[in-house]
Amino acid sequence: MGGLPLTRIAERVGRTPFYVYDRQAVQQRVAMLRQNLPPGIEVHYAVKANPMPALVDYIASLVDGLDVASAGELQVALNAGANPSNVSFAGPGKAEPELRQAIAAGVLVNVESRREVTLLAALSSHMRLRARVAVRVNPSFELKASGMKMGGGPKQFGIDEEAVPDVISEIARSGLQFEGFHIFSGSQNLSAEAICESQRQAIDLAVRLSQFAPEPIRIVNIGGGFGIPYFPGEQELDIGRIGENLRVLASTAADKLPVAHIAIELGRYLVGPAGLYVCRVVDRKLSRGQVFLVVDGGLHHHLAASGNFGQVLRKNYPVVVANKIRGVTREVASVVGPLCTPLDVLADRMDLAVAEPGDLIAILQSGAYGRTASPTEFLGHPPPVEALI
Ligand SMILES: *Cc1c(COP(=O)(O)O)cnc(C)c1O
Repeated sequence: MGGLPLTRIAERVGRTPFYVYDRQAVQQRVAMLRQNLPPGIEVHYAVKANPMPALVDYIASLVDGLDVASAGELQVALNAGANPSNVSFAGPGKAEPELRQAIAAGVLVNVESRREVTLLAALSSHMRLRARVAVRVNPSFELKASGMKMGGGPKQFGIDEEAVPDVISEIARSGLQFEGFHIFSGSQNLSAEAICESQRQAIDLAVRLSQFAPEPIRIVNIGGGFGIPYFPGEQELDIGRIGENLRVLASTAADKLPVAHIAIELGRYLVGPAGLYVCRVVDRKLSRGQVFLVVDGGLHHHLAASGNFGQVLRKNYPVVVANKIRGVTREVASVVGPLCTPLDVLADRMDLAVAEPGDLIAILQSGAYGRTASPTEFLGHPPPVEALI
């Protein structure tokens, strides 16, 4: 990674387990994405996927905006030097102090309920600062084939499409600055067709709802949901096809929403492939014919790889013995962590190089939803180190 063997990186980090993220991989990913997208489509980074401050600093210089989902993430985004005009704040149940911080910072608040509108209006007049708002819409359509659905049907996210005209007039009456719409319908989608379809519907919806707006729409955030392949048989997302579709949508938008910027927001797609989780084999055990490699890391650092972060049927992430990639004998082995729970499995009966205590195990595709999406306090082991190279 970054031109260095992982053994050298492990020496440099000083201890295992650790996460390591590769700047160059992130930069190439953003460049590849931009090559495929039509000009004028803004790319935002969803900080939730990986909020490591040094990484957010780096990404802020590559993308057009940052999306945050808490006051903590807002602070990371502002510390990274992001221009507040290009930061948006989504998430249900925003607390009053969070809204105050957002208004003071001058970021766009994606409102998700009438309560937020009322509160923002009161805070705006009290603070003598006009809050910038967009409405997060819970559309009537769903993002098909998505790992996690966050729109369509009854949802805790956003405001139901049917109620949006009413909410917009309330926003206008309250003197808030209405800027546009946020329509995010799901995550981890590998079907270009499903994404194209939902983006088309999102633009159509924004066009329809724009007639209720007090002034021309300035921003339409059509979400993301771009997935990455984790499991055997999964294919890379066809980004070329999404780019072609966006070319058509961008021209529709230029026609019907002439002053609107179109943004997509991506987390996992930008950083997932750029990260590894690395741990060390502590023990090698044989139990009734099965090999168990017990490592010093586990689900407390990498919940998603253990299969306990939204998976229905547990599948193995791509796992390798990092110091024995080539030219060694292989065997079927399971990689398990040190926690006293049978859930602490990082690889279940996988084909791996024969490993011994001291060898390094690397889990690929680990740059998103890793450390901060894991219960690091569980069982009281030290947290993982994070390195950016
Ligand atoms: C989680 C989230 C994202 C990022 O999703 P990815 O699947 O990581 O791209 C983007 N926008 C919102 C509103 C989110 O909640």
